[in-house]
Amino acid sequence: MKKSIEKVLVINSGSSSLKYQLFDMATETRLAKGLVERIGCGGPATHAEALKQVVAELGDAAKGIDAIGHRILHGGETFRDSALMTKANMAKAKKLVKFGPLHMPANLGGIEACERTFRGVPNVGVFDTAFHIATMPDCAGMYAIDPKYYKKMGIRKYGFHGTSHKFVTQAAAKFLKKPLSKVNLVTCHLGNGSSLAAIRSGGVVDTSMGLTPLAGMVMGTRCGDIDAAAVLAIMEAEGKTPAEMDVILNKKSGLLALAGSSDCRDICAKAAKGDKAAELALEMLAYRVALYIGAYNTIVGGADAIVMTGGIGENSSEVRERIVWRLGALGVKLDKSANKVRGELKAISAKGSKIPVVVIPTNEELMIARDTVRILGK
Ligand code: AMP
Repeated sequence: MKKSIEKVLVINSGSSSLKYQLFDMATETRLAKGLVERIGCGGPATHAEALKQVVAELGDAAKGIDAIGHRILHGGETFRDSALMTKANMAKAKKLVKFGPLHMPANLGGIEACERTFRGVPNVGVFDTAFHIATMPDCAGMYAIDPKYYKKMGIRKYGFHGTSHKFVTQAAAKFLKKPLSKVNLVTCHLGNGSSLAAIRSGGVVDTSMGLTPLAGMVMGTRCGDIDAAAVLAIMEAEGKTPAEMDVILNKKSGLLALAGSSDCRDICAKAAKGDKAAELALEMLAYRVALYIGAYNTIVGGADAIVMTGGIGENSSEVRERIVWRLGALGVKLDKSANKVRGELKAISAKGSKIPVVVIPTNEELMIARDTVRILGK
C-alpha cells in the first residue's frame, strides 16, 4: 500500500529569498513557517545554503517530510496542472525560463536544492499560470497580432495568481454549497499585484494578467492596461531601451507613480486627508476592477458570487466600497457594517443583493500543499 502523504513542506524560492511553510495535511494545520532573506547579497550564498538554514530552523520537524510543493511562476502551455518534477519535467520547465528570467531560475533552483537536501522526497511543481491555461479558451487567451509571434515565441495570455484564484474558487464553492463544477464566479485578487479571473463551471475562462503580470489592474507599481502605442511613444520621445521601459512600467508606475506610494494603506490615508492625487489613484484602481467585474459577469453567464481576496481585497473596506457602489446595475448592494471585516471569510453584500460579494482570505501555501498531495495520490 502507498504511504499516505501527510507532512508537506511548501517552498517559495524567489530570486533573493526563500519562504517556507510546513503542513500536516491530515488536518491541514500549519506546523511551521519562516523566511530566509538576502540570498546571494549578504545572507546565504546560494539557495542550497538557504535550505540548510531551513532544515536547521525546522529542527526535529524536518524529519519525516513526505513531499515538497514548490511555487513556480510560469508553466507556459506545457504545464496545465501541477506536476511531479521528474528529470523530464525539470527539462521542460527549464525551457520556460524565458517567460520569467528573474523568477524561474530561482524557482527551479529551489527544486534542485531540495533534491540534494531531502534525498528521495518527491518534489511537486505548482505553477501560477496552470489554473488559467488549463481551461481558458483561445478567444480570451490569444492576442490579435500575427499568429507567427505565438508560434515562434509563445506570445499569448497566460495569467498569474492562479494558485490564489484556485484556492478562493474552491472556498467559494464550499461557501455557496455548490459543486465546484457548477460554480460561476468573478474572483478579484487585489494586492500589491492584482488580477481578476472569470470562473465558469469551476474553471477559468478569462483573466486580467497576460503574457506577464503587467496587464490588467492598476497595481502598486505596475500600470496595468495601457495602449501599447503610448509605450512606443514614450520610448521614442525619451530614447528608452526595452529594459528601461520595463522598469518604468513594472516598477515605477501604478499607485507609486500616481500618488507617491505603492502601499494602498498610505494612499487611503493620504486620500482621507484630502490629497487629490491619492483620491484619483484610488478611483482609478476601483474603476478598473469594477469595469472588469462587469465584463466577467457577462462572460461567466452570471456570477454566483464576486470574491475579494489579497491584501487589499481582504482588508480594505475603503477600496471594496469604492468598487461595489459601481456595481449597482448588476443589482449588487453593499452591507456597510459587514464590509468592516478584515481578513476573514464573510459576505459583505446586503441581503437583497442579486450577487453576493464575499471576502475570502487566500492561502496559496495551503493550495500548493493540497495540490502536492493530489498529484502524488494520482
Ligand atoms: P499583498 O500583495 O496581497 O500582500 O497585498 C499588499 C497590499 O495590501 C498593500 O498595498 C497593502 O497596503 C494592502 N493592504 C493591507 N491591509 C490593508 C488595509 N487595511 N487597507 C488598505 N490596504 C491594505
